[in-house]
Amino acid sequence: MKVFKFGGTSAGSAQRLTNIYKIIRDQGTCMVILSAMSGSTNTLLEISRLTGEGEREEARKESLKLKKHYEDTASQLFEDTLASKQYIDQIFDGIESHIADYQGKLSENTIVATGERISTFLFHQLLLSHGISSALLDATTLIHLNGDNEPDVEDIRQRLHSALIKIPEVQVYISQGFICSNNKGEISNLGRGGSDYSASLFGAAVGSEEIQIWTDIDGVQNNDPRYVEGTHPIRKLLFDEAAELAYFGAKILHPSCVLPAQKANIPVLLKNTLHPDDPGTMISKERNGSGFKAVAARDNITAIKIKSSRMLLAYGFLRKIFEVFESYKTSIDMITTSEVAVSITIDDTSHLQEILEALESLGTVTVENNKTIVGIVGTIVADETGYAHALFTALKDIPIRMISYGASPHNISILINSEDKLRTLQALNSNLFQS
Ligand code: ASP
Ligand code: MG
Repeated sequence: MKVFKFGGTSAGSAQRLTNIYKIIRDQGTCMVILSAMSGSTNTLLEISRLTGEGEREEARKESLKLKKHYEDTASQLFEDTLASKQYIDQIFDGIESHIADYQGKLSENTIVATGERISTFLFHQLLLSHGISSALLDATTLIHLNGDNEPDVEDIRQRLHSALIKIPEVQVYISQGFICSNNKGEISNLGRGGSDYSASLFGAAVGSEEIQIWTDIDGVQNNDPRYVEGTHPIRKLLFDEAAELAYFGAKILHPSCVLPAQKANIPVLLKNTLHPDDPGTMISKERNGSGFKAVAARDNITAIKIKSSRMLLAYGFLRKIFEVFESYKTSIDMITTSEVAVSITIDDTSHLQEILEALESLGTVTVENNKTIVGIVGTIVADETGYAHALFTALKDIPIRMISYGASPHNISILINSEDKLRTLQALNSNLFQS
């Protein structure tokens, strides 16, 4: 069975929810994963924050507004709103008594989970009102994080199996994106934008033939349309290429989403609910020629240079450096080395001071902020010539701080000053993609 995931914009109104129904009604047996209706997650987080800060009046106002939004959506969706009204009441009674109690009884994760609960409940009711058999599955009983806060596909498969044997077969199985339980049994989530990840996990767990992620963009673009004119959608990507792009912040896909699908070899199709006829982007293991396919940038990068006078012919220097980062649970993104120096980039600077102090004992340390990593993604075949030439020609006017080439055949990373990002992306676009 196919797994369909619809993001917040795609589920953002009665009309959009009806569009989803039209997309999936002829798909046979399938699974539908929904995000919260657009804006809800932010509002729920705001309600939680305001409550925590004792701003009860403000919190109550936000809560009433959101409740009204759901009630209005329900009354636009069906004539008989009784079931949804009761459900919405029950959820908001909980939120309102939480606001009234100064200490607050609900955790932020419990509050934020109601967004996905309500969108899936409304969609379930919508399918029933159209005579489509459907079952609503609670994602918090299916996706459990382990002690490292990681979900496990095999565990989801077993839980899903036990849940499904208890209910009659239906055409559409609906569940929430984003939400799950942690290893203490509390309600938790997979992080912002995590619904893509849920869909990939569910897809792998049911052995789906395809996972479709429906958003509001025509597939993955070859460059960031906010900065560059004349971008184009990429029709085919390898799993590895998609993972690189998602990491670099191509907003369309949650970075963790690729792996479960890739491991289970399930193609992921990215589609646009606003243009359902657009072919979108297909992510699979099927190679589609070689060459550069896309460029993406990641900001707020800090570069750290460690220069050792003793590195010449020494061993163990890199291990000592890595141990410092490991002990502060800080992941290294880029690394370049020479005989006497190592340059490293990080994006999480929460332990920067401690890291720098520890590194001082290993050599002379220099730090630079406000850097951007530009990732040039594609299939860069080691035996083929011309990639470096094309890249360096495109970047001839850009000061480059670091280059990482050869770690993966799917990515060349360069580190630049953030102030040069715009012209870097433009130069790459016009030189690499518009010949
Ligand atoms: N609703 C959650 C968010 O806004 C999860 C998602 O949409 O993927 O981040
Ligand atoms: Mg998203």
